[in-house]
Amino acid sequence: MTALSFMLTRRVLPLGYYLRGAISVKVFILMLFTLCLTSFCSSTRDEVRLAEEASKKYGKPESTIFSKIIDKTIPANIIYEDDKCLAFRDVNPQAPVHFLVIPRIPIPKISEAHDEEAPLLGHLLMVAKNVAKKEGLDKGYRVVINDGKHGAQSVYHLHIHVLGGRQMSWPPG
Ligand code: AMP
Repeated sequence: MTALSFMLTRRVLPLGYYLRGAISVKVFILMLFTLCLTSFCSSTRDEVRLAEEASKKYGKPESTIFSKIIDKTIPANIIYEDDKCLAFRDVNPQAPVHFLVIPRIPIPKISEAHDEEAPLLGHLLMVAKNVAKKEGLDKGYRVVINDGKHGAQSVYHLHIHVLGGRQMSWPPG
């Protein structure tokens, strides 16, 4: 028992017991707040850590998880495909509807796209729009492309996120 809490005991100070109770409630609230803050920070840190790891791997001749989805060596919930691209549901959805549109050719990131790939990029956006319509996102949706470490890109195969089915807020984190 600390000197302070001893002084606050019922025997030393009549009000001590109640004061100590109030202090305990404050300590409890502080602990709860710290716990919430820690879990929020750790999920943000996870995202940043994933992006950092991915950015270190970028440039190494290793196929991404999305190449494996394209060649069907790993499963994905594919909702659209054609000769240029495919769309599949995000494994860790951030909205009631969250799917990705990816080109079949492995463009690592939007900032590395070449001028001659403009028609393909346009096609990806049109597919995003058409699939969003098929998914019933008639109240609107968000289209996101993360680029590089600061953009929190974690898979270095260009992909368009389409998120919908709930109200979005701004700015994003
Ligand atoms: P980004 O952080 O912009 O690079 O987004 C990568 C996205 O890919 C994340 O939202 C992940 O949840 C998603 N993802 C990773 N692996 C898979 C997978 N095997 N199937 C579906 N989505 C995936």
